Amino acid sequence: MKNPRLLIIYTGGTIGMIENPVTHALQPFDFSHLLDNVPKIKKLAFEIDHHQFASPIDSSNMTPLHWREIAEVIERNYTAYDGFVVLQGTDTMAFTASALSFMLENLRKPVIITGSQLPIGEVRTDGEENLITALQIAAARDHDGSPTVQEVAILFENHLLRGNRSTKISADNFNAFASNNYPELAHIGLDITFNREALYRSTAQRPLTVHHRMDPNVMVITLHPGITPAMLKHQLATPGIKGIVLRTYGAGNSPTDAWFIELIRQSLERGTVIVNVTQCAGGAVNPDLYDTGNGLARAGVVNGRDITTEAALTKMMYLFGLGLPTATVAQYLSLSICGCITPRPHLADT
Ligand code: ASP
Repeated sequence: MKNPRLLIIYTGGTIGMIENPVTHALQPFDFSHLLDNVPKIKKLAFEIDHHQFASPIDSSNMTPLHWREIAEVIERNYTAYDGFVVLQGTDTMAFTASALSFMLENLRKPVIITGSQLPIGEVRTDGEENLITALQIAAARDHDGSPTVQEVAILFENHLLRGNRSTKISADNFNAFASNNYPELAHIGLDITFNREALYRSTAQRPLTVHHRMDPNVMVITLHPGITPAMLKHQLATPGIKGIVLRTYGAGNSPTDAWFIELIRQSLERGTVIVNVTQCAGGAVNPDLYDTGNGLARAGVVNGRDITTEAALTKMMYLFGLGLPTATVAQYLSLSICGCITPRPHLADT
């Protein structure tokens, strides 16, 4: 077998940062510096090229246009490389991973996203290990020569996680990501141990189709005790809004006050799609459990089941980006695309 060919896509983030000697603030540096800082990469028997954002960014500045740039780089280079490693900041990494999982339809090669909590130039950096492990995972092959990972995943410290199941859980731990509703795809310890049953395999035998358009007219509304009619009304009436991820309590519960349900009903009548997602770190929306969850379902709010907020938001951007009618968007929202929701046994994954 030939040496694996891998493409690193460097977007910015802490992993590629150094300290400005004058201001002492962290700032992005040129990618060639990154390879200088990780000489071990040269020991891997991989052919590695890189693509760098013209101006590397902190991931807080990421927009759907940046996701499109990443997707297009992968599209242009898809046949030439065996796998892709995307380096970006951790802050919005779970959004990028979720978005790419929907944009890269029929993906059959690894797209491994990683970053670090400490800049790669620092002595105790986690960036070096994360980058090397991400490269090894992107290069991993099964006995038949097919890529072991055929989906978008986040590699961070000890875990390889499905991209659209991941969420950032810590601002300072090296294990900064979790996937509470889906098992890890691999455990990274002394060895990289893949969890073969958890790895995504598409049943469709179609070529990669990249969806470039993500519709940004979607937003997140988080419920909290004390939310007033004025607050909710204002948010639901955001001009141009097509879709809303409603972050409810527990198993999808919300106030039962008449004004609350009435505002939601009016928004749905205006043609907005609303999906119910729990604020809890794990577990699923179950509208049948309490009366407080039932009202939303009866009004026509879609059950997001165990989807993450990041995946729900980007999935809506993707579905509206396809130009689908409201009813179809609503229907697809509660189905699993690329493993973003735990499927109900009688509904096939798409
Ligand atoms: N603020 C940084 C970013 O998300 C943090 C990091 O790189 O992890 O880009």
